[in-house]
Amino acid sequence: MILKRLRGMEDLTGENQKKHQHIIQIAREISQLFCFQEISTPLLESTHVFARTLGEHSDIVHKEMFTFQDRNSNSITLRPEGTAGVVRHFITEKQKQNLPLRFFYHGPMFRYERPQKGRLRQFHSIGMELLGEESSRGDLECLSLAWLFLKKLNVQDQVKLEINSIGDLETRTAHQTALLEYLKPLRKKLSENSQRRLQMNPLRILDSKEDQDQEIIKNAPKIKSFLNKSSLSFFEEVTQGLNDLNIPWVENDSLVRGLDYYSHTVFEFKALSENMGTQNTVLAGGRYDSLVEILAGGDQRVHSAGWAAGIERLSFLLKYTGPKLKLIALIPLGEEGEKQALHLAWKLRQAGLCVFHPKPGQLSKKMKKASQLEASYAVIFGPEEIQTKQVSIKNMETGKQERIAMDQLLSFLQKNTKQLC
Ligand code: ATP
Ligand code: MG
Repeated sequence: MILKRLRGMEDLTGENQKKHQHIIQIAREISQLFCFQEISTPLLESTHVFARTLGEHSDIVHKEMFTFQDRNSNSITLRPEGTAGVVRHFITEKQKQNLPLRFFYHGPMFRYERPQKGRLRQFHSIGMELLGEESSRGDLECLSLAWLFLKKLNVQDQVKLEINSIGDLETRTAHQTALLEYLKPLRKKLSENSQRRLQMNPLRILDSKEDQDQEIIKNAPKIKSFLNKSSLSFFEEVTQGLNDLNIPWVENDSLVRGLDYYSHTVFEFKALSENMGTQNTVLAGGRYDSLVEILAGGDQRVHSAGWAAGIERLSFLLKYTGPKLKLIALIPLGEEGEKQALHLAWKLRQAGLCVFHPKPGQLSKKMKKASQLEASYAVIFGPEEIQTKQVSIKNMETGKQERIAMDQLLSFLQKNTKQLC
């Protein structure tokens, strides 16, 4: 049997791993500034958690979910996105009395899509959800959080914020009638997927990425001209708020989001660079006032807003090589030196210092490895040093070498390098 990695599922190593961790760390710090608490929900949920919230006819539920039966014949699904799990938590853990609630999450998501650059079957996302805020303050809090996050990652000049309103239910019903009237005669010209959407949820056609649909989408009736008075003024509050906060935005009156639960504000931060193709949306979200109602049943309305960002797509934009650790290379010589090095490495690591202990071998090879790893100091000790209870310390940057007493080593290194923990 040939051992293979599953398609669209990548191992995360080296530079990518560093960028990934950095993005999560920045998101965590920014989320704290906005008082969002970190939550980790399970990777697996009952299938209906996603089927209900995302909509049976959404692309995700229709063709992208990893769904299977557990040993008890229950249908379960690897989460394709994070919002549904957070809302499921809110309902099952009876959090209503704690509203408003602010959540930050990160982790792997799973979608059975055709793998390509920027589109994986296991990808990672970061998300922010604000539950229980009816006014446009909620939208603005989420949008400003997103903007500060992108600024702290230093990618703000590589993205643009596109925003639109899909209004309230009254607006969308009126728009849908007009949209159907326009699309029905063009049915045959639509892609197969969009023909299916025509019956189930025509608004989604406007979110199609297929070339064949683009011309038709361009001339379709815009939701903007159907926004009722209250939807219009809500949208104006959001865009005025963005202006007040000096957050640059452009209106995209064709922008709709592919999921059932959105209302009013929808937005996407898109990469300006051409080479990300249709995989250029790095962060996307909006307002979802009816999600709790959809999942819990009844008429429990919890006005909410949020967004999710793809870590892999953000990584494309990020220039980051990670912090430079002050590494100490232990270079023992001879058998006794090797023996002592084991203890010395243990002592230094317990004190929070990063230690590289190369395998036994020639001095020159060990020194070469130490400079490859960009060690700050090499600590060399052979029979002579051991006899006099000393070590030689070489500053790898300046080349300067000095001898110090073995029992002074820890305090010397602590003074001259940074403790990790
Ligand atoms: P797209 O339109 O690119 O398919 P989407 O609307 O399906 O995206 P969302 O469900 O809004 O995406 O997911 C939020 C973010 O997660 C996206 O903006 C994107 O950055 C990222 N993302 C979504 N699907 C994938 C994937 N298959 N591989 C990598 N990143 C993804
Ligand atoms: Mg998608």
